[in-house]
Amino acid sequence: MRDFSYFRATSAAEAGKAAQQAGAMLLAGGTTLLDLAKCGVSEPDTVIDITHLSGMSGIAVDAAGARIGALARMSEVADHRDIQAAFPAVSESLSLAASAQLRNMATIGGNLLQRTRCSYFRDPGTFPACNKRNPGSGCAAIGGVTRNHAVLGTSDACIASYPGDLAVALVAFDAVVELADRRMTVDELFLVPGETPDRETLLQRGEMITGITIPASAAARNSTYIKVRDRQSYEFAAASAAVGLELEADGKTVRDIRVAIGGVATKPWRARAVEQALIGKALNLESVEKASRFAVEGAVAHGGNHYKIELAPRVVARAILKMGGLA
Ligand code: FAD
Ligand code: SF4
Repeated sequence: MRDFSYFRATSAAEAGKAAQQAGAMLLAGGTTLLDLAKCGVSEPDTVIDITHLSGMSGIAVDAAGARIGALARMSEVADHRDIQAAFPAVSESLSLAASAQLRNMATIGGNLLQRTRCSYFRDPGTFPACNKRNPGSGCAAIGGVTRNHAVLGTSDACIASYPGDLAVALVAFDAVVELADRRMTVDELFLVPGETPDRETLLQRGEMITGITIPASAAARNSTYIKVRDRQSYEFAAASAAVGLELEADGKTVRDIRVAIGGVATKPWRARAVEQALIGKALNLESVEKASRFAVEGAVAHGGNHYKIELAPRVVARAILKMGGLA
């Protein structure tokens, strides 16, 4: 790990300006940034500490939806009663992430911008070939050990999966990211790798997330996040699903459904084909199992991650059946 300078910003404007300098990086909870600095992936010249900035950690929920400051801690959001009532999937996605210690330290903005857990990406000494780290150098994962890699949204240049849980729930409910002078949906924020896997989001250098907003909906209120992983704690998703469901008054016809999946794609993945297959239809075991298969439409496996093409639709089906009272 190489030396860097530390700068404690006194305002969001000052932080934003400082972060635009070459080699500068924002520091929130530090649980991703310092990890990546230690393994030589991130090499900041200066870290701009924003953890203490006031006005960026509030959580407010009303009839229109929620606004969560970028510096709110994962644990605070997960445990917030109004978030639990209006957006159970958001609360659950955070409770099932990382560990209690990490959740107490890590922030919402930092969580969204965490980097892939591709082990080739995180070991530059042993694996120089990584187009995400070093554009044009190749991809050590393709042809390597791919159990945790993506099957959706991949390219010949990169197959790394997006590891976060929260962003999956946010994409399902059309959440919006607030920056200093513009806004975009969380779905728009994340890019698929294509030929430029080093470009992961639409953020410009130094651009700071100030908060997120999530519109209220009946589907969000009746929602869940299911995460399947190798062990029950302290582990990233092999496959996950955020599902919100609203039924008609007859209690069986789908009025609104939101489905997004995690652990299987290069970005948090909205499964609109599943939604389209169920809206206006009767919810039953058969319709759910059939529709859930659309979650992996277009999926491409690379050896060891083939199981995800089977697993993801099952996780989606389980979440839909749970919300429909059928499981
Ligand atoms: P930081 O490390 O401070 O920042 C992360 C990145 O975001 C940096 O590039 C930083 O410059 C940038 N950044 C931070 N805040 C802003 C902002 N407001 N605007 C613009 N840029 C910003 N996550 C899961 O979702 N699920 C898991 O199961 C999970 N398991 C984990 C297990 C381990 C062992 C570890 C170490 C992490 C795990 N994580 C998991 C990831 C963890 O949730 C993230 O490390 C954490 O959320 C990052 O938040 P932070 O505030 O510490 O970010
Ligand atoms: Fe790098 Fe992506 Fe290949 Fe992993 S999958 S080695 S992050 S280019």
